[in-house]
Amino acid sequence: MDLLDFIFPKTCVSCGKIGSYICRKCFSKIEFVGNPVCPECQRQAIGGKTHPGCKRKYGLDGLVVATKYKGPVRAAIQKVKYRFVWDIHKVLVDLVADSIWRYSLPKNVVLTSIPLFVQRKRWRGFNQAELLARDLAKRFGEKYQSDLLVRVVDTKTQVGLSREERKVNIKGAFKISQNSNVKSQNFIIVDDVYTTGATMKEACKVLKRAGAGEVWAMAVALD
Ligand SMILES: [Zn+2]
Ligand SMILES: [Zn+2]
Repeated sequence: MDLLDFIFPKTCVSCGKIGSYICRKCFSKIEFVGNPVCPECQRQAIGGKTHPGCKRKYGLDGLVVATKYKGPVRAAIQKVKYRFVWDIHKVLVDLVADSIWRYSLPKNVVLTSIPLFVQRKRWRGFNQAELLARDLAKRFGEKYQSDLLVRVVDTKTQVGLSREERKVNIKGAFKISQNSNVKSQNFIIVDDVYTTGATMKEACKVLKRAGAGEVWAMAVALD
């Protein structure tokens, strides 16, 4: 236990027990994604690679996702997003890092994150996807590039929208920041939750149109 833990004791996001962000009992309730799935059809896919039949022009090449968006993981993600507990995202980073062996990721990847619209980030003070991407890159010994993608439209939240509405809502939301060269580079785009993947797919399209190599999506939880 370090000094910070003493002053601000960690409590379980699910049951409130003191000692850690997810206590042992709640940790045992986490539903892990045992078998990797395809980012397009969300059926089982070896190594998390997009099925050859599901591949799209400018589409994602694979998906890494650690758990289901339920219980303590859902609670932890909400905490990261809406109430800043300075290191709670590390719990989520651990979940992804521990399941990474199941995935056939490309080599030499650059991790980046889904950006927030600039005003929104200023208001919130941080971007939760950025925190995750930065720490994951460190953990994997890969590069991290912040602000590679820029959000040019302040889209409304995807929550509550249908699959088709999400696609329309997010269309044209991103561009690549000035002075960024993505040609032939492999990328992993990080976000907290993967639902229909509309946001990740749109970001992927922007990168691939600019000449990126393989592009994967990585999220903590699958909704
Ligand atoms: Zn608990
Ligand atoms: Zn598929």
